[in-house]
Amino acid sequence: MDDRDNFHTADMKYAAVRVPQVDANLKLKRAILAGHISQRKALDAERNALRSLRAFDSGSATLEQALESVLEYESLIGVAKSYATQYRRTLEAAPWKDCPCGLCEQHGIEMIIFRGTERNKRRGFHNLAVLASRMARLEQDETR
Ligand SMILES: [Zn+2]
Repeated sequence: MDDRDNFHTADMKYAAVRVPQVDANLKLKRAILAGHISQRKALDAERNALRSLRAFDSGSATLEQALESVLEYESLIGVAKSYATQYRRTLEAAPWKDCPCGLCEQHGIEMIIFRGTERNKRRGFHNLAVLASRMARLEQDETR
């Protein structure tokens, strides 16, 4: 998996959950235009995946429900390789919940949802903050 799709913590690396935007994804657009995928179904599944992830974050849906709706969307749009195992690991750990970077507190689960450049930038800032604190910790260890 591409490194920018990952969410780092002080000691771990988690896969971001991919929920591509139907309207902004070229491959998806082509499949819809070619009649391979129903646009209506894709939009519904996209919305449902996001809704379930947010509900999971706020405690009103279970991990299974969230994961299932993401995988439903994944299978509808036809991905080359499923990341079910990695997604489960990410959701189980919920690493955004105890991140001190500031952005995670503000944006919650949105931080680990992979969609477009805006949120990818956000995750980039988070990863930089994690890296900076990791380096600060290393320096501290060295001067001890
Ligand atoms: Zn963070």
